[in-house]
Amino acid sequence: MDLSYTEEEEAFRARLREWLGSVLPGLPAKPDPGDWPGRRAYDAGWQRLLYDAGYAGLHWPADAGGRGATPTQHLIFLEETERAGAPYVGANFVGLLHAGPTIAAEGTAEQRARWLPPVLRGDEIWCQGFSEPEAGSDLASLRTRAVRDGDDYVVSGSKIWTSHAEVADWCELLVRTDTQAPKHRGISWLAMRMDAPGVTVRPLRTLAGSTEFAEMFLDEVRVPVSHRVGAENDGWRVTMVTLSFERGTAFVGEVVACRRTLDALAAEARRSGRWDDAVLRRRLGRLNAEFRALWRLTQWNVSEAQASGGVPGVGGSVFKLRYSHARQELYEAAAEVLGAGDALDLDREWVLDRLSSLSYTIAAGTSQIQHNIVAERILGLPKGR
Ligand SMILES: Cc1cc2nc3c(=O)[nH]c(=O)nc-3n(C[C@H](O)[C@H](O)[C@H](O)COP(=O)(O)OP(=O)(O)OC[C@H]3O[C@@H](n4cnc5c(N)ncnc54)[C@H](O)[C@@H]3O)c2cc1C
Repeated sequence: MDLSYTEEEEAFRARLREWLGSVLPGLPAKPDPGDWPGRRAYDAGWQRLLYDAGYAGLHWPADAGGRGATPTQHLIFLEETERAGAPYVGANFVGLLHAGPTIAAEGTAEQRARWLPPVLRGDEIWCQGFSEPEAGSDLASLRTRAVRDGDDYVVSGSKIWTSHAEVADWCELLVRTDTQAPKHRGISWLAMRMDAPGVTVRPLRTLAGSTEFAEMFLDEVRVPVSHRVGAENDGWRVTMVTLSFERGTAFVGEVVACRRTLDALAAEARRSGRWDDAVLRRRLGRLNAEFRALWRLTQWNVSEAQASGGVPGVGGSVFKLRYSHARQELYEAAAEVLGAGDALDLDREWVLDRLSSLSYTIAAGTSQIQHNIVAERILGLPKGR
């Protein structure tokens, strides 16, 4: 497989670089990490700029409102926006990176027309209501119920760890629509309005002190049957599509950010004399190799996804597994380079990044679960008991 860039792709890079150079200096200051309404407005503003310039949903298919760009152009977009220090996707994460792509792949023409354009314009924010108190790794044992009543489902239950729930307009929600069927067969995938009567959001405080996620309580919430994506009780299959986008492509932009952080650490180590420590040098060198390999793996995953109809395969689990560990190692190395006797004895931004790096081996499916997937679905090993 040829992973080098063509002349046309390099021309795309040059145009994008020029555009970034023209808009980034005019951006407003980033809001405080704890200011969720401010962050929502900031993320929406950036998304709108991308939309107006023709860079929104680059990787989405053209018939879903995207630009139908090649996977490589999308990767160039991620490289260049990160290199230029452009805002990250932020509150648009779920809408742009997995709910939107799922609707593009599985939704009806009407559903695509209703939900996709506002995501691309940054007008509507989505969150993900999958996990429940006793259904995280074993997601299929979820208990939130949806009972048909005329043209609506009446939904009751609770969800947990719902990122961005406080500022979201819509939720990609998994519900049980058949309590008698085997657990994987009785699930449906719904789009629920977050301001519907009966939805209560209670923020949870994380280790890093922010309230980036919440508990969600659903008390007889009415969701139109027309808001179901995929067939009734076929939600597990639709969920696999969502999770392949989440693990396969959603985090790839962050690899570039990690490489930038690593470069900054190496520069700091040279400046402070820590570079003379051969053990530390080797550690940074190994991380450099790891992030380069992850970028190659990303290119491979994205090309494979394109070749097989646009939905990433289980290679995403390999990416997720390695990336989440490498990210933690990066921030451990940062504490060493920055000379902090204690991990918390660092600049605030480093502390927050270090603490949040711990969550990456849990979010979007734990490392243990990714190991199981790789063992069973890639290596063909027998299922555990
Ligand atoms: C920062 C962050 C953001 C999140 N955002 C969202 C969100 O927006 N929406 C959402 O729905 N969820 C979200 N989650 C939830 C996340 O998806 C779950 O935490 C995750 O799937 C693990 O589930 P659990 O917490 O119930 O752990 P459990 O399933 O209880 O697992 C506990 C431990 O047991 C291990 N384990 C469980 N089963 C097995 C097995 N079969 N084999 C080997 N080991 C096993 C797990 O790997 C883990 O180490 C978020 C989580 C984090 C940390």
